[in-house]
Amino acid sequence: MQILKVKLQNVSPYHAQNDARIRYVLEFISTFYGIRVEPSPEGLTLPTPQFDSWTPHNIRVTYIDTIPVLYTDQQPTHIISTTGHVGFDLIGATFFLLSLSEELKFHTPRFRSSLSLLHRFDLLHTPLINLWLTQIEHHLRTKGYHLPPRWPTGKFAIVLTHDIDRLGTVEFTLHGKLRRIMLLNTMKHLNLRTLLRSVGAPLHYLLRKGLRMYSPTIVNPDIGDWIACESQYGWRSTFFIFSDKVYPRDPSDPIYTYHDKTLFHGNPIKLMDLLQELKPTHDIGLHASRHSYNNFHTLRMERHRLSQLIGNVDAVRHHYISFDAYRSPATLEAAGFTIDSSLGWPDNVGFRAAVAYPFKLWDHTCMRSTNVWEVPLTLQESIAIVHLGLDTPDKLWSLIDKLIHEASRSTGMLTLLFHPAAIDMPFDTFTFYRELLTRLSHEDAWITTISGIKDWLSQRTSR
Ligand SMILES: [Zn+2]
Repeated sequence: MQILKVKLQNVSPYHAQNDARIRYVLEFISTFYGIRVEPSPEGLTLPTPQFDSWTPHNIRVTYIDTIPVLYTDQQPTHIISTTGHVGFDLIGATFFLLSLSEELKFHTPRFRSSLSLLHRFDLLHTPLINLWLTQIEHHLRTKGYHLPPRWPTGKFAIVLTHDIDRLGTVEFTLHGKLRRIMLLNTMKHLNLRTLLRSVGAPLHYLLRKGLRMYSPTIVNPDIGDWIACESQYGWRSTFFIFSDKVYPRDPSDPIYTYHDKTLFHGNPIKLMDLLQELKPTHDIGLHASRHSYNNFHTLRMERHRLSQLIGNVDAVRHHYISFDAYRSPATLEAAGFTIDSSLGWPDNVGFRAAVAYPFKLWDHTCMRSTNVWEVPLTLQESIAIVHLGLDTPDKLWSLIDKLIHEASRSTGMLTLLFHPAAIDMPFDTFTFYRELLTRLSHEDAWITTISGIKDWLSQRTSR
């Protein structure tokens, strides 16, 4: 079997094997290239990792052949030399980015893009790690390495996902509003603020918009229609479904239960029956509640509720994409998940770990790699349209064109999230989605689901 030998300057192969951070990055590189990577006294030469110097105020950026390179000490002049010397601290930089180190001191489940150094360097839309590794890959190929293709087919990958925050049937009825108020009246939430929010928000809405409160514009909530336009091309997507029992509950959490009805190919159907129908052929994960990101008891209970309906649940995405860099990785692992797709910017689009490829989450509490794969979320339509103000199809197209270009040139991936039953969108996002799929069918891309990625990874890492 082909092995990529790497020599770390001033680090013995033994030490490299035993440093969990070095091993973590080498394993990532190994998955990216699809071959084994081993520390060795000779081979591709990397500078000594300077983990401690990778702090946000130390980090600078330079451009080498238009590729942005991060550094902390001496300004690098090349990415890789013809003699196989990598010109910057690849291991330190990759560890800093994949382990989300810059987020630690904020202790927040909503790390805003403006807090990131990637924002400071205008790199929110740039998959840095992919660009570095593909550059090194060119060198390896000239040296006779035969690296397997990055993806089963196509130059880059697109993962289609949908979060089910509403069924489009119960939430806007008076009985739905009452249910929300009752659900919130737990001891934990019964305070003036949540009471005002649960009663006041609908009242405020009513005053502003009149009776539209009970019939707001809802983007097509018929899951059957979304599935139909995907299967036209032989594609599937992942649906993230909320638990029907949630504690503690946030006012923003969805309020539907598995007994509520939704539309499927034009007919009302109980969600539990719909899930039974989709289970054999479709990909379903848990849409975890907003406050469960650091509480494995809650998260495990929510996973259990959904798995009672559909069997084992491997994948999760948090509502409001709550994710705490310090607590979430170990929490997700303890709750039994093996794949997460919560890591996107809560207020922006792009690459939160500066990577457009799956990676294992790093647990800072025990300084080790977890067994949870992250499939980073790139684009959430509601964030782009509402937060970024891309309120016409043309504006959204120009962003998507840019992201497709980035994924394609870096042979990476994009994870897209569109909400069936989104409310009050300035244009019809279902029609937009249909056009997007047509556009994607002309790209040299592998279109897949979260489990599609997981199956591909287990095949790739078991060689
Ligand atoms: Zn959600």
